Amino acid sequence: MAVNTVASTTASDSTHPGVSLGPAVALSCRECGERIPLGPHFACTACFGPLEIAYELPEGDPEALRARIEAGPDTIWRYAPLLPVPADVAAKPNLNPGFTRLVRADRLAAELGVTGELHVKDDSGNPTHSFKDRVVAIAVEAARAFGFTTLSCSSTGNLAGAVGAAAARAGLRSCVFIPHDLEQGKVVMAAVYGGDLVGIEGTYDDVNRFCSELIGDPAGEGWGFVNVNLRPYYAEGSKTLAYEICEQLGWRLPDQLVVPIASGSQLTKIDKGLRELIALGLVEDRPYKIFGAQAEGCSPVSQAFKGGHDVVRPVRPDTIAKSLAIGNPADGPYVLDIARRTGGAVEDVTDAQVVDAIKLLARTEGVFAETAGGVTVGVTRKLIENGLLDPTLTTVVLNTGDGLKTLDAVAPTTGPSAVIRPSLDAFRAAGLA
Ligand SMILES: *Cc1c(COP(=O)(O)O)cnc(C)c1O
Ligand SMILES: [Zn+2]
Repeated sequence: MAVNTVASTTASDSTHPGVSLGPAVALSCRECGERIPLGPHFACTACFGPLEIAYELPEGDPEALRARIEAGPDTIWRYAPLLPVPADVAAKPNLNPGFTRLVRADRLAAELGVTGELHVKDDSGNPTHSFKDRVVAIAVEAARAFGFTTLSCSSTGNLAGAVGAAAARAGLRSCVFIPHDLEQGKVVMAAVYGGDLVGIEGTYDDVNRFCSELIGDPAGEGWGFVNVNLRPYYAEGSKTLAYEICEQLGWRLPDQLVVPIASGSQLTKIDKGLRELIALGLVEDRPYKIFGAQAEGCSPVSQAFKGGHDVVRPVRPDTIAKSLAIGNPADGPYVLDIARRTGGAVEDVTDAQVVDAIKLLARTEGVFAETAGGVTVGVTRKLIENGLLDPTLTTVVLNTGDGLKTLDAVAPTTGPSAVIRPSLDAFRAAGLA
């Protein structure tokens, strides 16, 4: 099996002897291909490129692998043979995220003029109500393997809650960092699990810079930052979205996917997951298109895509889609490559369109999305209007978080139809009979 395989590297190094993370065999540089042993590293020492996990993936009969997956637990651990986690991961104390529902969205399809199959992958059903539980679950296993005692992150909100909860369950200390001005729902969720929560006066990009400094300082020693020094492991969690979508479609690739972009990590790893399924023979090898979605107030990747640039120029975010508000997205250039290679696109919508799309999804399918879901649904509508997304094909739109976390976005325009005295006369007078 030749997906990022290496012949002769052991899964251990001098600082972390005996580390065993399932099929993961090394870290490899995305830019120059340099390989180093597994460890808490994120940048290539040769060229500073981002490091990824290299695997020795299972060989042999796809039918047998498919059967093994289907017999697994109803969580991301059914895909443990394809993830950098120990084989007995499902037996450890973790939050067991994943296997969220894939909602066939016929009423939304009718509103959008989609005649093909339309599905919403609804990740609001994860333990802390966002897709971040997937990536954190993998990072926790790496943190345990490397002996970290404190779990940390820089977060636009959802990640802080996911780290706090996962650390609580695993019995690790947590200390997480967020921009000071996040939605109340996200602040409360990040704090309630009992770890330390620090608001930083600045944007997410300031928070991230601060965390990079902390990693190099004695104050951060023994800390596993899930999205910095554990990033190669963390990022692999997003592959499970690709695996689940295909399995839930009956081991079939969708023709088109609409994916939100913050740092761009999720989108790039969904592509990686789809390519692995093809390489393993678990799905038929045929083309798919990946579309990226941003909010106009933080759309550096979309601007680069539309401008035909390879470089993503950083912006200062100003949008209600705070979970996606990363002005300097680390994986931006890779997102551009994937959108171009697969024949997809990157598009953005205004905050008003985000709110409309949240309400549209709620009204048609009974799914209450956070602002990031408003971004993907809004972008889907826009892509159909400008002819980039084919409404006759099978499309999967991601909702990555729960509307209850971003009530502020819809509260000003959503409320009771009437407030009346408890009498039938008053009810009739309100015109609702
Ligand atoms: C973090 C997040 C994403 C995607 O983040 P990437 O950095 O692009 O991987 C998408 N939706 C929500 C709700 C998030 O919290
Ligand atoms: Zn390199």
